[in-house]
This record gives sequence, structure tokens and C-alpha cells, in this order.
Amino acid sequence: MLAVSGLTAGYGPITALHDVTLGAEEGRITAVLGANGAGKTTLLRTVSGLHRARAGTVGLAGRDITRTAAERMPALGMSHVPEGRGVIVELTVEENLRLGGLARGRVRPEDLERVYGLFGPLGERRGKPAGTLSGGERQMLVIGRALMARPALLLLDEPSLGLAPRIVTQIFGLLRDLVREEGLTVLLVEQNARSALSVADRGVVLDLGRVVADDVADRLAGDEKLRHAYLGF
Ligand code: ATP
Repeated sequence: MLAVSGLTAGYGPITALHDVTLGAEEGRITAVLGANGAGKTTLLRTVSGLHRARAGTVGLAGRDITRTAAERMPALGMSHVPEGRGVIVELTVEENLRLGGLARGRVRPEDLERVYGLFGPLGERRGKPAGTLSGGERQMLVIGRALMARPALLLLDEPSLGLAPRIVTQIFGLLRDLVREEGLTVLLVEQNARSALSVADRGVVLDLGRVVADDVADRLAGDEKLRHAYLGF
């Protein structure tokens, strides 16, 4: 579904990604792991057209999207959920979800119902201002908003950040269900490698902008040396 090849990107004199090659297979969760500053956010931003590649290519379902503008990505089937759970706090939960549908041109009532079916707490609070939600509910809301654009590929940046372990388990469980039931493809960026590998099919480890490991999740989680060196568990 996603093919990143030889991707290099940076900021002024800083090279944040060096010749990165990785893929995200259809209907699977691929985790991108690594410490602070490894280049994970830059990778997602470059894939989704928010940051310009210096070299290399990004392919989506066989189409070269390396130079495609970010605002065209929803129509091509890609939704990006950035770090930070940004919602419009004055708008209701449902109004925030509607904005996600507009990214794809229109809001379909069945898509709202689908999100409420997936994320029960959002359905219960649909008329409440988004500012009243807990951290976990806000994370559900930003994922739900991205789903309103009916993506084939979902890019998720650090969804677990600042959430209690119980809530992380809940959110990742919901993600797993979504992938299993709907065949969505997910590229999941996480510093919380242990939790990410428990839901991912595959993992790619970045260190200082380079790929240092790329394997099925179970093998990465079972590699003690790699865990100690790069994954922090
Ligand atoms: P984090 O978990 O902290 O977001 P990360 O793995 O996502 O880390 P990036 O945020 O992609 O890493 O950062 C990669 C490198 O690029 C780091 O050295 C960082 O300092 C640098 N960097 C990131 N954003 C900018 C920017 N806007 N200007 C200059 N340098 C930046």
C-alpha cells in the first residue's frame, strides 16, 4: 500500500532522514519505532506531503506521491493523525468528526455511525464540546475524524503519548479491531515500542534517521539486544 524508497529529508543543515526505505502492507499495522529525534515525525510528515523530500520516493498504491501536496492526500486515500490530539475544543464531538468528512468532500451519516460504533464513548458524548473529553477520548476523536475521510492508509503519530497504560491498551485494541474488520492499512509511529509491537504486524526501527531494523513484530520484540539498544524495554 505504501512504499518509501531511499527517502532523505531534513531541516537546513540537519538531515533527519537518511536514505530510508520501508513499506506498509495492505491490511496490516506497521510500527515505526525509535527514540526521541530518530526521525519518526519527519518520516510521517514527508510521506503525507507536509514536508519536502530531498531525495527518494513515496508510493501509495502504486502511484508516485512524492511531490503531491498534503491537501490532496485525503482524496488519494491517506489520512494523517499528527501528534498532539488537536481538536477544536469549542465545537462538539460530532462537529469535529464532520470536519474530517469534509476533508474528503462530504459527510456521510453512515460514516458518523461507524465511528460511534467503533468508539462508544464518542457516541455518548456526540453533542458535548470536544474540550470536555479526556485524553483517551480525544485520541479516539482524532482517529475517528481521520476515519471520516474513509482512508485506505492511516498515519498515526504517537497516539499513546501521555495516556495511562490502560487507555493505551484500549486504543491499540480498537485499532487492531479496525484493521482486522475493515482491512485498513496503518503506519503507526511510536516511542512506546512495547505497546506498539504488541499490536503491530511489522516494525521498523529508526536511529538518527536511518533504518536499523525491519522485521515482523514478534521477532523485534524477542531481540534482546535490539530492545536494549533502541527500544527501551
Ligand atoms: P519525537 O518523538 O521527539 O517527535 P522523532 O523521532 O519524531 O522524535 P523528529 O521530530 O522527526 O524525530 O526529528 C528528527 C530530527 O530532526 C531531530 O534531530 C530534530 O531535532 C530535527 N528536527 C525536527 N523538526 C525540526 C525543525 N522544525 N527544525 C529543525 N530541526 C528539526
